[in-house]
Amino acid sequence: MKMRTASRRRPILPPAVAVLLFLLIRCGADRSPSGPSGIRTVPLNGGAPAVTVCRWPGDKAAAYTIGFDDFRASHFDVARPALNGAGIPGTFFINTAAVTRWNSLRRMAEEGHEIASHTWSHARCSRIGENELRRDIERAIEDIRNHLPNVHKVPSFSYPFGLLDESSKAVVSRYHLCARSGSGGIETGDAEHTDYQALKAVGAYPPYDIDRLNAMVMEAVGSRGWIIVYFHSISDRNRSGPTTIPLDLFRRHLSFVRGRGHDLWFATQGEAACYIRMRQTAVLSASVKNGDRIEVRLEGKVPDFGPAVPISVALCRPSEWIGRSISAEMEGGGRRIQVHEPDPSRFLLDMPVPSTCVVYATQ
Ligand SMILES: [Zn+2]
Repeated sequence: MKMRTASRRRPILPPAVAVLLFLLIRCGADRSPSGPSGIRTVPLNGGAPAVTVCRWPGDKAAAYTIGFDDFRASHFDVARPALNGAGIPGTFFINTAAVTRWNSLRRMAEEGHEIASHTWSHARCSRIGENELRRDIERAIEDIRNHLPNVHKVPSFSYPFGLLDESSKAVVSRYHLCARSGSGGIETGDAEHTDYQALKAVGAYPPYDIDRLNAMVMEAVGSRGWIIVYFHSISDRNRSGPTTIPLDLFRRHLSFVRGRGHDLWFATQGEAACYIRMRQTAVLSASVKNGDRIEVRLEGKVPDFGPAVPISVALCRPSEWIGRSISAEMEGGGRRIQVHEPDPSRFLLDMPVPSTCVVYATQ
């Protein structure tokens, strides 16, 4: 597919030079010697190891969330197989009074999709009184918990009809970590600019301009932001309607997004909102132990209603560890921590919050 933004994104530097410059800047290599492979790194005993919290897990450029509003049979029958095939989790906002297939939703939750609230009655949140809204929201959460025993938290909400105001935001904030509005474009992903109770989003409506939608995903990649797109029904009979997108168009978007998996963190709404909040408050430190290990300590707190998303932490590879495998485990001889090595100069750890882990080279 041709990207309309391609000409604007032509790199100024040749890719190889850009990558080298990136590595030098990332690892502060101007202070450090060249390793045996020519990669400039920091020696293990050269002081406190440089350690940073990644903007997004896996150090991806941007976060991508795909949401579905209302309870529709096509979410399970049509969207779910397409999402599972692409390895992308969805966030399904259900107005629980309309649900007829709790078993389907239970299965989706087991598969890693998020089951979120869209109120009980599909209420106009800014138009009903505070007490009525509270009851409606409580009823939805109760339904989800009663029917889906595998769902313990309901971090996410979306406002029916996109209707919200300051008073409904305040009510929603007592029950959910984050709430999506119906419009507004792309989230910056910066904690200080995130209105957790009125998240911006891009709705898919006729004429279902997939090129435009895909271009907005690339815009989020360019700005290192967070894009939330949302749909209603998906038709496998090629029907199109005000809230029904034909499956072939939906698939075109999904395959575009999947093809950008190296740039995008595919997250549910609750995961992405929780990551932003934890990234803001995380306190990170690292020190060398016994001359050959790095201890990394991550302090912080999982917010109320939030899922326990691990935080990605990046470290420069010490020059002594060039060409060696790196392992990490939780302090106290416990669980292995996943280590990613996106390039030879650094590595990433997925750390629970809070936790301390020990990193070492194994060969
Ligand atoms: Zn709705």
